[in-house]
Amino acid sequence: MSARVSVEPSGRGTVVEPLIFDKSRPGHRAAAIEAPGVETATAAELLAGAALRQRPPAIPELAEPEVVRHYTRLSHMNHAVDLGFYPLGSCTMKYNPKINDELAALPGFTWLHPYQAEADVQGILELMWELEQALLAVTGMCRASLQPAAGAHGELVGILMIRAYHRDHGGAERDTIIVPDSAHGTNLATAKMAGYRVVELPSSKRGLVDLGTLAEALSERTAAVMLTNPNTLGLFEDDILEITRLAHEAGALVYYDGANLNAIMGKARPGDMGMDVVHMNLHKTFSTPHGGGGPGAGPVAVCARLEPYLPTPLVERRDAPGADADGPAGAGFHLVGDHPSSIGRVRGFYGNVGVLVRAYAYMMRLGGNGLLRASEDAVLNANYLRVRLHDTYDVPFDRMCMHEFVASASRQKHTTGVTARDIAKRLLDFGMHSPTVYFPLNVPEAIMIEPTETESRDTLDSFVDAMLRIDRESREDAAIVLEAPHVTPVRRPDETLAAREPVLRWKPAAESPEIS
Ligand SMILES: *Cc1c(COP(=O)(O)O)cnc(C)c1O
Repeated sequence: MSARVSVEPSGRGTVVEPLIFDKSRPGHRAAAIEAPGVETATAAELLAGAALRQRPPAIPELAEPEVVRHYTRLSHMNHAVDLGFYPLGSCTMKYNPKINDELAALPGFTWLHPYQAEADVQGILELMWELEQALLAVTGMCRASLQPAAGAHGELVGILMIRAYHRDHGGAERDTIIVPDSAHGTNLATAKMAGYRVVELPSSKRGLVDLGTLAEALSERTAAVMLTNPNTLGLFEDDILEITRLAHEAGALVYYDGANLNAIMGKARPGDMGMDVVHMNLHKTFSTPHGGGGPGAGPVAVCARLEPYLPTPLVERRDAPGADADGPAGAGFHLVGDHPSSIGRVRGFYGNVGVLVRAYAYMMRLGGNGLLRASEDAVLNANYLRVRLHDTYDVPFDRMCMHEFVASASRQKHTTGVTARDIAKRLLDFGMHSPTVYFPLNVPEAIMIEPTETESRDTLDSFVDAMLRIDRESREDAAIVLEAPHVTPVRRPDETLAAREPVLRWKPAAESPEIS
């Protein structure tokens, strides 16, 4: 039972780390300090017989430093934005200033409880109100709900509001949503999930919405057009004003997927483009770390005609006691939940408040000019990479892009057999995360690159060096690329086997003996 676990040297000079269960040794534990003069009772003395377990739990036994080292070693096996470049297109994996985390961890925020009386939580309500005002200033919309927990959740909320609007305005038969094929995948999923028929709009040769095709697709059945802008090719829709005009003429509303607002903030506002609903991803543009799936926040902002449908409660500011006879009295900030047309609550309590604090801190620290500069740098960085790579890799829509662009490994695949996937794997050997590959679907061997505004010229140049070198290797010694990665703790797992027969749980080899 206490046989030593062997450690294997790996390519990177780290050790291959066994499961914590396999590291367990009977009797290893953290120091248990007895409090002098305090009577302690055993479980047997406290619990009735039937409630007592018959066998010890199969949990690992380790001393504190063993646990700390185990998890620290595991953390070193992952790539992270705090370790290296992470140009994952459509994800905005930018570096997030640590001060945002520090501020969100202030005890004044972390010790709040959602059931506290309104009078005791004026600070956080004020922050939420100001954050809403800041997001409205950036988007040019009328009001916003901070409740949705992610971008896709914001989309669903937006579409449910559009449905409620049509129901109240004689449009109950509108059962179709038009989604361009350059939209983010969640747009289609959202429309389907909300029960709509989806009409996919093929892009023009320029990778944009074609006005003629759109006009043909619009009808008295269209509830909405969902636009990802910039689209997943990183392109800003040239005819965006015409798109909203045509849609509105047909009685449809227009949804703006604003997950990647760092392409346009400070430069252009969805409200000025005629958009009816916009969602934002605070965990992308507004600087909350989101690797590993969360937590996030996807506030959704609306134009005046959709305001009555927003999820509740909303934070409202009252300037003087009793200023509004219908609402709660008293100056200050109030949670108001009695909007009769609201689609209701979409999230427990007030959303992911910690994420809201980070976004607030980020926006206040940058200010209007800082946000504008962030957009300009995001776009400049993407274009810099595009131009430095476009002689070596195909760039199907090779013109000014926004925060990201899509290259392709088609040339490499046809001449050397090296695919986008191989290039992605080889980048790991250079300490860089791969870009998004094989998305969007309308570009074969797609490599979708989003450097973000936080990277320096030096980092961008090292990425270019790596990409150029991988292309050279493909031509001169393709095996290096085809067999990559070479230095990671795990190389190329059998993805089919992992999907078909996943091993997700550790099971004890044999049952532990009964407690005597
Ligand atoms: C990331 C993203 C989404 C989805 O956001 P989640 O928070 O992951 O649900 C939707 N649209 C676009 C354009 C995105 O980049």
